[in-house]
Amino acid sequence: MKKTTCILLCIWMVLSLTSCKNTAEETASFEAMDTVMSLKVYGGDGICGTLEARAHELDELLSSADTDSEIYRLNKNGTARLTGDALTLINRSLSLSAETDGSFDMTVYPAVCAWGFISGNYQIPDGKTLDALAQNIDYRQVSVNGDSVSLPENAAIDLGAVAKGYLADECADILGGSGASCAVLNLGGTILLYGAAFKVGVADPENPAGYFGYLSCGEGVVATSGGYERYFEQDGVRYIHILDPKTAKPVDNGTLSVTIFSDDGVLSDALSTALFVMGIDKATAYYQNHDGFDFILLTDDGKLYVTEEIYDRFSLADGCSYQLKKVKK
Ligand code: AMP
Ligand code: MG
Repeated sequence: MKKTTCILLCIWMVLSLTSCKNTAEETASFEAMDTVMSLKVYGGDGICGTLEARAHELDELLSSADTDSEIYRLNKNGTARLTGDALTLINRSLSLSAETDGSFDMTVYPAVCAWGFISGNYQIPDGKTLDALAQNIDYRQVSVNGDSVSLPENAAIDLGAVAKGYLADECADILGGSGASCAVLNLGGTILLYGAAFKVGVADPENPAGYFGYLSCGEGVVATSGGYERYFEQDGVRYIHILDPKTAKPVDNGTLSVTIFSDDGVLSDALSTALFVMGIDKATAYYQNHDGFDFILLTDDGKLYVTEEIYDRFSLADGCSYQLKKVKK
């Protein structure tokens, strides 16, 4: 088996920060949440240390793999009393699962493990195993009673698809209470843009070191989900880390990447995963029936779908041959 893991890299670029440049710049780079994060803050007066500490704190609380985390304890014992952050994010995740009709479902964790995405020992589970895994994926089985959370037997949760979005929201609050004038926090594929207008490059899945285009946007959170971020290949087939909760198998619906722009970080992060699972037709219907976000979705036939609100603020990179399609509300 050929094992290929393309760990999420810092692949985003902010092209213009001109309005920030009259204040002192502070930067930091570190690993958290299984990715590389890089921070750039203007006028923050030492705030990077606080932001980094919050990233490590949330990582330690929310990681399913870290044996000291609250989520690990919940998964191991089937029940746990949780503190503020983990509880808040589980409650929010349950609402988002319901809103996306289970396309985003944190109970995919046993399936994520069975495919080897946590251990790195990649394998294709047999049909019977997949059926059993798929039957156990169901966010409606997670029960929350006050601060006490319980899971049914064989269930376990994974907040990996929303943790960076939650961190982005937390960082926005920290920045809001500081003297920082503006900031760009690259939290590993989830970017917080704070205090100014920005132009952001969107990574090209065909060449993740480059960009297929640029989005001009104001404050908010830009989150991208892509199969290219983590996958393995066997017999010429690529198996990606985003799973369809209905089948427990890697998504294989022609979607290559989904980028969401929203002022709500958790929403951005959850929907980048959920719309990837939905594919372009269901994603379009979802967009037409819900507010508070925009998307850029690339399919494997070279079509780049951009929602109408941001369509005029998006430009294709020179030489990019993807075919632009406007998605109407
Ligand atoms: P993201 O990069 O935000 O799309 O998150 C992907 C990560 O979330 C994966 O590496 C898994 O740990 C987990 N995951 C995979 N599929 C799903 C899904 N359908 N719903 C929720 N979490 C998922
Ligand atoms: Mg996500």
